[in-house]
Amino acid sequence: MEQWNLIIDVAKCHNCNNCFLACKDEYVGNNFPGYSAPQPLHGHKWLFIESCERGQMPMVEVAFRPTTCNHCRQAPCVEQATGGSVYQREDGIVMIDPDKARGKKEIASSCPYDAIWWNEQEQLAQKWNFDAHLLDQGHSQLRAEQACPTGVFRSLKAEDHEMERIAEEQELQVLRPELGTRPRVYYKNLDWFTKHYIGGTLVSEANGTAVAASGVTVRLEKDGVQIQSAQTDQFGDFKFDGLEDHSGRYTLQYDSPRQGRCETSFEFNESVYLGIFSWSDSP
Ligand code: SF4
Repeated sequence: MEQWNLIIDVAKCHNCNNCFLACKDEYVGNNFPGYSAPQPLHGHKWLFIESCERGQMPMVEVAFRPTTCNHCRQAPCVEQATGGSVYQREDGIVMIDPDKARGKKEIASSCPYDAIWWNEQEQLAQKWNFDAHLLDQGHSQLRAEQACPTGVFRSLKAEDHEMERIAEEQELQVLRPELGTRPRVYYKNLDWFTKHYIGGTLVSEANGTAVAASGVTVRLEKDGVQIQSAQTDQFGDFKFDGLEDHSGRYTLQYDSPRQGRCETSFEFNESVYLGIFSWSDSP
């Protein structure tokens, strides 16, 4: 049977918060009997944007990640719930029953992703329910999906084996896979949050003037083996991304017309700008 999944592309999110506002517009003050009680005006973030800054001046990157309930296949919130207060529908959507869950504050702490919020006024644990009330009325898109101007979100119904194929093909990842919860919310370009980079700049100096050295091949080695190569861009910048933090010693290498092979070794901790290197003159 096909079940709902959501693909979120981190590379396309610009932090405009239209998705956050669409979620607020849908749920704040609105009651959907059998689906959800009204979200309070303040304090809840059923769908929100997290940010991650990597690197150092002048090579700094900020990435944004919409975050919400993952509608896990092996959901701890479902496993720990009593009396059917949290359950998974046949179409994969994890629901908190607004009647059966009333007064059960423990539900709010059952999610390892902190995706559940406690509504003091309603005495109810609440979260984003994949806009189930809209999908059941025949809507083809989620509110966030409609509201996003850059196409960050893509909801799709697929059988699990098909979703596995899509995830592999598109290099999708889930949040904290080590938990074994098997989320139905998948991320594209999640490395922008979880991995690190090494950057720097090559310049060519002539008559006291420094000019960007573009189109130069720079290589990155680890344990004597080349693991990446990159060409400097029009500003002389190069970048090696997708590295694990605190992953040991690396060597940077490039060939200079005057100096021949140049290399520098360093211990790598987290995203770093190594500085400006002279491509053609003496260091
Ligand atoms: Fe439950 Fe949290 Fe998984 Fe959502 S993300 S299904 S609230 S365990």
